[in-house]
Order: sequence, then C-alpha cells, then structure tokens
Amino acid sequence: MSADTPNQAAAVTGREQRVLEIIETARAKRPRFRDARVTMAHGAGGKATQTLIEGLLLPAFNNPALEVLGDAGRIRAGDSQLAMTTDSFVVRPLRFPGGSIGELAVNGTVNDLAVSGARPLALSLSMILEEGLDSAVLRAEMEAVAAAARTAGVSIIAGDTKVVERGHADGMYLCTTGVGIVDPRADTSPAGLRAGDRVIVSGTVGDHGTAIMLARNEFDLDADIESDTRSLWPAVDALLEAAGPAVHCMRDATRGGIASALNELARASGVAVRVSEAAIPVRPAVAGAAELLGIDPAYIANEGKFLAFVAAEAADAALAALRAVAGCEDAAVIGEVLSEPPGMVLVDTAFGGLRVMDQLVGDPLPRIC
Ligand code: MG
Repeated sequence: MSADTPNQAAAVTGREQRVLEIIETARAKRPRFRDARVTMAHGAGGKATQTLIEGLLLPAFNNPALEVLGDAGRIRAGDSQLAMTTDSFVVRPLRFPGGSIGELAVNGTVNDLAVSGARPLALSLSMILEEGLDSAVLRAEMEAVAAAARTAGVSIIAGDTKVVERGHADGMYLCTTGVGIVDPRADTSPAGLRAGDRVIVSGTVGDHGTAIMLARNEFDLDADIESDTRSLWPAVDALLEAAGPAVHCMRDATRGGIASALNELARASGVAVRVSEAAIPVRPAVAGAAELLGIDPAYIANEGKFLAFVAAEAADAALAALRAVAGCEDAAVIGEVLSEPPGMVLVDTAFGGLRVMDQLVGDPLPRIC
C-alpha cells in the first residue's frame, strides 16, 4: 500500500456539520475536575483521565514543561536536552501471553521517551511488594526487567523496595522513571500536527489489551493472541533517520488505544484527523475477539505500537523505513490531518459512513498495564 490518503468517499453533510460544531464548542473549554471520588475511569486514559490531568494536576503543578502534555518532560542540561518520564504498572495477571509486568515496566517507560524523540539512557525501578509473595515470582520478574532493559539498551541505575501487608498490591506494583537524551533529528511535539500530514500506525492494533483480557479467563474465548510489548526506540530511530524533521509528532497508543491518542493530539494541535477504518491493521484473531466482546480495536491498549504524523512528501519513505523494523512489518498509513473541524477525529467506516471517533469513556478493561 502506498502513502496515499485512504478513500474519503463520504462528505460531511450540513446536519453533521452542525453536530460537529456543538461538540467542538464543548471540547474547547478546559475541563474542570468535579468528581467526588476517584473511579477506575480516572486511570483508563480516556475522558476522565484528561479531566483529572487538565482540571486538577496541571493547575496544581502549573509549569510550561508539563503544560505541553507530552509523553515525557524536557529539561536542558548544558548543551543537551534531557527527557524524563515515569510510569506505574499494576497489570493483572502479572504474567500473560507475550510478556509480564517486569517487561512492561521497562518498555512502557522506554517507549514514552522514544516517542518524545529521546534515546532512552537509564531507568529507576521502584517496587511495592505484597507480604508473602513467592520469591520465584519476584526473581522471574527481575529477570524480565533485566532482559528487557538489555534489549532496550538502558541500565537500571536506582531503585526502591517497599513491602505492604498481605492482601494489598496484588503481588507487586512496579514504577519506573526513565531519562533519555533528546535526539537532534527529532523536532516533534503534541501540538505539531499540520493539515496534510499523513497518519501512520506502526503495526496491528489491540494486541496487548486483548491478550490481557483473554489471560484473565473471564470470557469463554480461546485465541492465540500475544501482547505486543517491545521497545519502540529502534522503530523511532529508523523513522527519524528516514524522515527527520518531516516527523511532526509521535505518540505510543497505550491505554485508550489509537482512538484516545488521536483525540489528544487533534486537540493539542487544533486540527482534525480523518482516518479510514479499513486501513487500520488489526489481526484477525483480535478483530474476532473484539467483535465478540463488543469493543472497537481502536480503543484497545497497545504496548508496542505508536502513531506518527509525517509530512505528506516524506510519508512513503517513513512507511518503508518503519516496515523494515522488527515488530513494525504491518505499519500503515491510516489517515490524514485536516484543518477542520479542530480537535475532532473522524472515521470513514468500513460500511461507507462517517462518524466521530470520540475519546474513551469509562474503563472497559481496567489494570491492563
Ligand atoms: Mg505514552
């Protein structure tokens, strides 16, 4: 497939236009955090998380580095720019097809650095362990952390251990903080989307969330689906080498899936994104499981996939470079950035209609990372 814009047969009608305008006005207001209690949705990466961040955290910590809402914050150190990010991992179960909490704890943090255009250098590892945890389980996870760190080219240079009473922490929670150095080839930001940019996804979507769902055995479903957890730095490196400053923005599509990431970025850049449902790569087994469970794969979490917004003239080169990297063989152009209506994500459905791809509401699948 080439980097041409996917088919956009359906035009926006007058009635659709009015509905879009109403949604747009509501979206433009900064949300206020009014919830009386924390709910699972505040950790799901969708609308409630956004309200928490923009309505409570940003006003509390008020500073320009945080205001950008990137995957990592940037600090200047002499002639270099460093990037720093942090992430907590509470996945249940601890082990699942394709990975485990230890591997996620490394890759999740390394990937937030990578999509910020920073080469990952070092991590800290903070553990909250449950009293009574089997030492073999702890040992296995530390080996998983060490192996993932080796693969990602980072060292664990600091750490902390806390133990809480039996019945808390579900075995273990892990928290990693990562530091990287901003790559001179990278000129990206969440506000960097420009009309005409091609939207590239680095591979099939929904693998991780579906693998976790099946691993919990809550559904009578048997499918061969593995988490896609992996370090994204090699893919980002190849993309920057092929397209450099033509890469306007990158974001890993974790909780809330590509739908939530697209919405965040459309909003941050004040542009619209129009994607073609048929162009989004989804493994048949994932598509089947998602259909049975009534979940759109675009909202399912990934742990080894990212979105890149690339100037049209560099999109073919970017796509070819990505597809040559292990884990990105199914990379595809799934849509285009438009100037109107700002902050909106529209999808041309497989049935020929046009609909809004809104942010995730609620939490269909808690504790996936
Ligand atoms: Mg991220």
